[in-house]
Amino acid sequence: MTERSGLWSPTGRTRLAAVIGDPVHHSLSPVLHNAAFRALDLDWVYLAFEVPAGGAAGALDGMRALSFDGLNVTMPHKGDIAAAVDELTPDADRLGAVNTVVREGSVLVGHNTDGEGFLRALRIDENVDPEGKRCLVRGAGGAARAVVLALVTAGASDVVIAARRTEAAEAVVAMAGPPARVGGVEEADGADLVVNATPVGMDNVVGIDPGAVPIDPSRLGPGQVVVDLIYDPVVTPLVEAARQRGAVAVNGLGMLLHQAAVAFRLWTGQDAPVEAMSAAVLRELAHRA
Ligand code: NAP
Repeated sequence: MTERSGLWSPTGRTRLAAVIGDPVHHSLSPVLHNAAFRALDLDWVYLAFEVPAGGAAGALDGMRALSFDGLNVTMPHKGDIAAAVDELTPDADRLGAVNTVVREGSVLVGHNTDGEGFLRALRIDENVDPEGKRCLVRGAGGAARAVVLALVTAGASDVVIAARRTEAAEAVVAMAGPPARVGGVEEADGADLVVNATPVGMDNVVGIDPGAVPIDPSRLGPGQVVVDLIYDPVVTPLVEAARQRGAVAVNGLGMLLHQAAVAFRLWTGQDAPVEAMSAAVLRELAHRA
């Protein structure tokens, strides 16, 4: 690492991490990880590579050839990378999806830090432990699968998957096991914890009505915790409506931050500077708004 005029600059010794995805230009991962590397004065840099569908195995060969130490994986590659790494953690194996690759010598190990990131955000930021809680998860895609498995593993007493396609919800139940079960979104009023894992509420997404809510807010109220995995906009229509009804409601920034913090620790062996990461991502979102 060279320090000229107090500015960090990469050298031949700088260690490399990256995210692959398509699209990837909007990813906040470079902001999070580079802020963490600078905060801890680590000689690492984090880049983003747009890799079209079908290119995941080639990107992993590139990681080996170029001696990258860490890789994050986003849509559409999580399943392909799970099939291409040398080893999988039990969670990544069960989910069939990898969001973080760690190089251990010549062995590439696939992890999935989304579920742990979700649980840490709940426990650390909101002081909520899912053990014994009745939960409802809206959606049955990749994020929903990770959240449902995390809730089941954490000892939730009931985990309802409310998805628009029953077969997708059934596949999540088959993966996570009881107490996960298929149910309807109208069961939200019986839940202690309600999670939106659909894109409904995101800004600027084709096919999504601006202002739409994925769960009828009249089913939400005091005593409930609502987590919208969306973080752009920072205050989603669901978060706003749930707060108006008296529920505690948070966006997905906590999960984003903590899944990155878990990956950071896997790569560097150091605790992530989550405050510096959080400040950097909030600055970036304000800049983009
Ligand atoms: P995904 O794999 O594409 O799954 C999306 C899910 O939402 C599917 O079950 C889909 O149903 C459902 N859905 C889509 N439009 C819907 C609608 N209009 N009404 C009801 N259900 C609808 O996506 P994902 O990766 O799981 O991501 C889901 C959301 O979580 C996204 O907003 C993403 O940004 C967010 N996310 C946040 C984090 C974080 O760290 N905070 C991490 C991952 C994802 P069909 O299968 O029927 O289409």
